[in-house]
Amino acid sequence: MTAIRPNPLSGSADNSDDDSRDDPASRAVVTLLAHHGKRLGQGYPWVYSNELQMDAATKRLDPGTLVTLRQALPSGRFRDAAVATFNPHALVAARVFSHDPSERIDAAFLTKRLVAALELRGKFFADPWYRLIHGEADGVPGLVLDRYGDIAVCQINTAGMERLVPALLEAIADAFAPRAVVLRRDGSGRALEGLSEVPAQAAMGEIPDRVQVRENAIVYETDIRAGQKTGWFFDQRENRAHVAALADSGRVLDVFCYAGAFAVLAAKRGAREVLAIDRSEAALDSLARNAALNGVADKCTVRRANAFDALAALAEAGERFDIVFADPPAFVKSRKDLKPGARGYRKLTRLAAALVRPGGFLFVASCSHNVDPPLFAEQVRAGLADGGRVGRILRAGGAAPDHPVHPGLSETAYLKSLLLQLD
Ligand code: SAH
Repeated sequence: MTAIRPNPLSGSADNSDDDSRDDPASRAVVTLLAHHGKRLGQGYPWVYSNELQMDAATKRLDPGTLVTLRQALPSGRFRDAAVATFNPHALVAARVFSHDPSERIDAAFLTKRLVAALELRGKFFADPWYRLIHGEADGVPGLVLDRYGDIAVCQINTAGMERLVPALLEAIADAFAPRAVVLRRDGSGRALEGLSEVPAQAAMGEIPDRVQVRENAIVYETDIRAGQKTGWFFDQRENRAHVAALADSGRVLDVFCYAGAFAVLAAKRGAREVLAIDRSEAALDSLARNAALNGVADKCTVRRANAFDALAALAEAGERFDIVFADPPAFVKSRKDLKPGARGYRKLTRLAAALVRPGGFLFVASCSHNVDPPLFAEQVRAGLADGGRVGRILRAGGAAPDHPVHPGLSETAYLKSLLLQLD
């Protein structure tokens, strides 16, 4: 049977007559190779293509089809182990939505997941600005959903999630009825799924030019249409609060500053002077706007530059700061650039540390999921040694709890940070 593909661009939330609706009884079945499936049985949410029987019929399945995963048991019998979206062209071929294969994956299912995620966020955050769905860790593989008050911004990252967009829109309307729902289809992972990048689109309501972000008791604005990722990096919220509390009347440097989440907060918390560096003009424009919005424009200077060059030039000029905040993009995008990418953190630490006055603070972060905390800490240690600096680690941080971690999937524990005081 060939399912009619729901048109993910249609924006229609009504799929009631759609024959691609999930039916556990008639779903395609994909079988794991013998001796595979142990991790699946333990709750791991991914199955790789080399763990599956890729027969001709399986290879012909439409990317993103919902399938029942069948496990071959040592006894020679079979067990239906999970329901997953399947993409015959992707290395991560199956992404599990439920370990109960009799569960129907539809709008009602997604509503349940959204409601559970809303309840969880409600325990941590008084205001509705947060990551509401963090992919596999929230039980919705292929989806990132960031909530900006009454606006939802969804990153659709897999073929499976593309096919579930109509059901997702229905679920979002049911679960919290936002004023607008924006679909972002420009994530770098899409290529691995055979998906092209598509400009942001309003699936419901209209996309405002700028939206508010309320965080750490201040208000920023950002661009959810063309800003990076969904428009904001909610993951650093707690780390920002922690480090900005040290700002006093000091001089602060924020490299890789994006829209100024850290820089503007530090200025609001009393920093005397903040220099913010990024290579993106749009990011610096947002930062300047956010500084003005918070009445700290006179303290904030922006500089458009390559961060590594700018750090070296500042050291050369003898500049020193009380706090340096360095939160770069992922230097390691895949396993094969692990070594050179990891060395990027070492170099960044050396250059940034050179600008910290004795007794001052350095905050350095990595969002490369391939770089685990020990490797990151080793790069930071080596970078300090290269620069002849010593000091002490005050805090090792991760993402805030709106970015939960799937216990079996280190990819969801991507953010690491270290706060140090240097002598
Ligand atoms: N620290 C920010 C998030 C940073 S995202 C926050 O807390 O919100 C990474 C930023 O680094 C982006 O704004 C990107 O434009 C910038 N960037 C990437 N490579 C860069 C480079 N080589 N030099 C300067 N900025 C860079």
